[in-house]
Parts: sequence; structure tokens; C-alpha cells
Amino acid sequence: MIGAGAMGSATAWQLALQGKDVALIEQFGVAHNKGSSHGGTRIFRLSYRTPLYTDLAARALPDWRELESDSGEHLLEQNGQLDHGYKEAIDEIAISLDRLGRSYERMDAADAHDRWPGMNFEDHVLYSPDGGRCFADKTVSTLIRRTQELGGDVHLNTPVLSIHLDGDHAIVETESKTWWTPSLVVAAGGWVEKLVGHLFNLPELIVDAGQPAHFQPVAGLESESFWPSFLHHGANGRGGSPLEASAYGLYTPGEGFKVGTWSDRKAIDPDNRDFEISQKHLTEMKQYVAHWFPGLDLETAVATTCLFTNTPEEDFILDRRGPITVCSPCSGHGFKFVPTIGKITAELALGGKQTTPQWQLSN
Ligand SMILES: Cc1cc2nc3c(=O)[nH]c(=O)nc-3n(C[C@H](O)[C@H](O)[C@H](O)COP(=O)(O)OP(=O)(O)OC[C@H]3O[C@@H](n4cnc5c(N)ncnc54)[C@H](O)[C@@H]3O)c2cc1C
Repeated sequence: MIGAGAMGSATAWQLALQGKDVALIEQFGVAHNKGSSHGGTRIFRLSYRTPLYTDLAARALPDWRELESDSGEHLLEQNGQLDHGYKEAIDEIAISLDRLGRSYERMDAADAHDRWPGMNFEDHVLYSPDGGRCFADKTVSTLIRRTQELGGDVHLNTPVLSIHLDGDHAIVETESKTWWTPSLVVAAGGWVEKLVGHLFNLPELIVDAGQPAHFQPVAGLESESFWPSFLHHGANGRGGSPLEASAYGLYTPGEGFKVGTWSDRKAIDPDNRDFEISQKHLTEMKQYVAHWFPGLDLETAVATTCLFTNTPEEDFILDRRGPITVCSPCSGHGFKFVPTIGKITAELALGGKQTTPQWQLSN
């Protein structure tokens, strides 16, 4: 396994749970802040427009509970999810949830504001009680801890320098050791192209830095019950929506309400990042928050950066060729599926086939 972010750690945990001989190699430390998996929280939601991901999230629910029971940690909280925006998006989410028989409520902007007075809404609103949040850093450190307790070999601060094929084996070079293995999983997030781009036709991947910020609620709205997770579906100009892209957010205990918007998107090199906070992005974010979140105090904004790896269709890469499985559940929405991705990737690593066309490699 290369990469001890959320996905590599989940796969290592699954393989160790099944009694397999697993080594997990990570270039940095546990739950470091240079990749995509750090921070207090991530949104969990079933409310997708595409049935593929609604079904996957529904499958992930019992898998999260299994991970919690295996580790004794509380990692997923279903404190609700709000989707709002243009009608077509909200209708499609309702259809996805109907297919699975999941409950939800639809309402207009005024009723939603009455119930969650810290937020303003567009006219079409859907509340899903199944949604909520996963605790990100805690999940990654828990998966690594359990991998070790189950006998897995974890090598931190060990950059992989190169990967080559040797017939039906893969050769992995680090500074101190050469590994020769019949099954290698590459879960390298924003570094996947650098590590295996010479071996496979990966989809076009754009790696860029997201910049979410936490805000404190104003007096009277401090209770977490006012702050379910949300996704504001941008209409790219359609239907008069004021947003070009979507915005998202959720409450992180101890840090406040996180809001993510998109601005200043440009490709970056994950090995050559400045981690600087873009003041332009922060200013635009505050304009967004000023309009849509009357219950947040703009003066309390604390921004951070995080690495996004995006495919053109926002799908995942999860497929095996020869001895190498590529695992990159990315595009800004993979975390909620972590324990299930661990299972799917472990199956591939043990010889399974990928049958979901959206996740297949093209060569
Ligand atoms: C700002 C932000 C907000 C998000 N919000 C949500 C959300 O609300 N809900 C949701 O479901 N998802 C969300 N996501 C997406 C989710 O966090 C990612 O899909 C997920 O964390 C990706 O995990 P990963 O393991 O693939 O990548 P990473 O966490 O980046 O892990 C890859 C690992 O590989 C290691 N590595 C790379 N190269 C080498 C090498 N040569 N040698 C050794 N190790 C190497 C890296 O150091 C890294 O630790 C968000 C992402 C971001 C950035």
C-alpha cells in the first residue's frame, strides 16, 4: 500500500482485518496536513443527484458502524444534511433517495430559514436526516492504529521514489529498501499521476488547493442543532442562481461552522505548494457568507488549505491492471465512503475485477 491518507489507510485496515500480510508506506506522518484527508470533519450525505453515489453512501453507513465497532471510536454522526439550490438538482436528489426508500423533507426557503435561522436558502430545499459528518483526522489515525494492532507494517516518513513493473510483480523503491510485490495499491491522492502516470492512461487529473474557512455562530445560534451539513447547488448561471459553482459546509466541533466555496482555481504541484491563504478567495468567501449565513460572524473567519484531485466527471479511479491497483476516490467528495472504499480496494488488490465503468482505467 502506498499512501496513508484516508483511502490507503482504509484499504490497509481491511486487508489486515482479513489477516493479509500488509505494508503501508507513507511519505509523511499520521494525519499530516499536506494531502486531502486532514482536518476535523467531512460531510456525510446520501443526497446525491447520481444514484451511483447515493447507493455507495447507503452502503457506507453500515461499514462506518463496523469500523466504529472494530475500533471503539465514534467516527460518523448523522446530524442531518441540507441541500438547496435550483429545482432540477433538488428533484434529482429526491429521486435518488426515493429509490432507496430513505426519508427526507422538502420545503421552501422561508420555511427552511424559520427552522435554521442562521442560514438563508434558495427556493428549493431538501433536508435528509441520514446526512451529517465524519471525523476526518480521527478516522485516519484510527485506521492506521487498527492496521498496526492487526499486524500490519506501517512505514511513516518513507517517500516512495519509484514504481516499476517486473512481469506480474511491482517493484517499489524507497531510500532504504526495495519492495517486490504481487499486489501493490497506489492510494497517493494528488501524487497519483507522479507515481503511476508513466504506467497507465489516467483520466485528466487537476490537482488544486481548496480553501475552506471556519466561522463562529453569532450569539443565540451557538447550539450545533442550528448547523446541519449543507450543499448549495450552484447553477452555473441557470435559473438565475447567484452561484457559479456549488458551496458546502458543516459544523466542526471546537472550530466552528466550515464553509467551502471555489475561487482562484489553478493547477498546483503538491510537492511545491506555498500553503498561503489567498486573500482574494477569503474576501469572496466572506461575500458569500455575508449573503447566505446571517448567523455567522464574518470577523471570526479562520481559513485553511487542502489538496483537491479532480477528474473531469468528478468520478473516482478505482481499478487494477496487472499487479497494481490505483485507488483515488477524489474530486472533493470521497471521504464519506472511506470504509467502503477500503473494502472495494482490498477486493481489487486480492484479484477482484472492477465492474463499475465510471471507476475503470481506460487502458
Ligand atoms: C477541502 C476539502 C474538503 C473536502 N470535503 C469533503 C466532504 O465534505 N465530504 C467528502 O466525502 N469528501 C470531502 N473531500 C474529499 C476527501 O477528503 C478526499 O476524497 C479524500 O481525503 C482523499 O483521500 P486520499 O487518501 O485519496 O488522498 P490523501 O489524503 O491525499 O492521501 C494520499 C497519501 O499518499 C501519500 N503519498 C503520496 N505520494 C507518496 C509517495 N511517493 N510515497 C509515500 N506516500 C505518498 C501522501 O502523503 C498522502 O498521505 C474534501 C477534500 C478537500 C480537499
